[in-house]
Amino acid sequence: MFRALLVEKDAEGVAHASLQDLPDDRLPEGGVTVAVEYSTLNYKDGLCLGAGGGLVKSWPHVPGIDFAGVVESSDDARFAPGDRVVLTCWRVGETRWGGYATKARVKADWLVKLPEALSTRAAMAVGTAGFTAMLAVLALEDHGLAPDQGEVLVTGAAGGVGSVATALLASRGYEVAAVTGRPETEAYLRDLGAARIVPRADLAETVKRPLESETWAGCVDAVGGAMLARVLGQMKYGASVAAVGLAGGTALPASVVPFILRGVNLLGIDSVMKPMPGRVRAWERIARDLPLDRLETMIRPATLAELPALGAAILKGEVQGRVVVDVR
Ligand code: NDP
Repeated sequence: MFRALLVEKDAEGVAHASLQDLPDDRLPEGGVTVAVEYSTLNYKDGLCLGAGGGLVKSWPHVPGIDFAGVVESSDDARFAPGDRVVLTCWRVGETRWGGYATKARVKADWLVKLPEALSTRAAMAVGTAGFTAMLAVLALEDHGLAPDQGEVLVTGAAGGVGSVATALLASRGYEVAAVTGRPETEAYLRDLGAARIVPRADLAETVKRPLESETWAGCVDAVGGAMLARVLGQMKYGASVAAVGLAGGTALPASVVPFILRGVNLLGIDSVMKPMPGRVRAWERIARDLPLDRLETMIRPATLAELPALGAAILKGEVQGRVVVDVR
């Protein structure tokens, strides 16, 4: 048997989540069975936990796009019982049963062995949000970013992606300017290593001039929309923005002028289908660069039973840092 947060639709088509004990034969097909220890909460999980059912295609469903745990059994030679593993995305938790359960069964191709330095709990404090933040930092560095080039902007800084990006960049010696719409998170962001707090309102106005003063050496952008358009015009010559999120909207009301007069680069970041070599590289860098004491300050511990309420909160932008769910 295993315990799962099962989402079922009622006769009116409204989805409800409840904790249930299920026999192992309810687990989906897959080569590796994992005893899940920790999971987490992302925006997508909030959607899948909501009354509308979000991205889920068939019910009943177990959400949870990320999990970390220990291999219980494997018919794939790459994994053996006792291996500590992490899974992020691959549409697990959306189109397949995910991590909000004490057991998960998935394809071996989707699992990464955890680096020695990372516990399963730390891996879920990182989760998709932190993994994506790492992909963004790696993309910026692959395009030439280095700590001596000036301030790096992080938008949506008090959210999951932004918190981990702030901590990662600061620990690598970057000077981080953190954009937030929640002034009460200033102490938290400074603890993570932010050197400057930029009020969201400073970047809220839409683009009036396509080029403003050259201010940022790089940017991890979790917000998109009008803020991303504005930031493009403030980048230094040749600098890059890693476009990660859409918390502020999907439209990009921008001008091409920063690209063609300042050589600014807009780098797209996708964590869901990221090929395996890039995943292994990112987890190794997370294990090396992310200070575990800073990670600890981001954690909001939770249980499976708390997830429906927390799912609603993340959709309203009310969750600070990273929710870590002990599923056991
Ligand atoms: P969170 O909800 O934890 O954080 C988003 C943050 O954005 C909020 O905390 C808030 O930061 C800020 N924000 C929210 N609404 C607005 C707004 N209207 N205008 C400006 N800022 C706003 O989400 P995550 O950090 O987990 O994810 C961030 C984004 O990245 C999401 O859009 C998510 O879908 C996307 N994402 C993309 C991935 C990929 O593969 N590309 C993977 C993971 C996430 P503050 O309170 O500091 O202002």
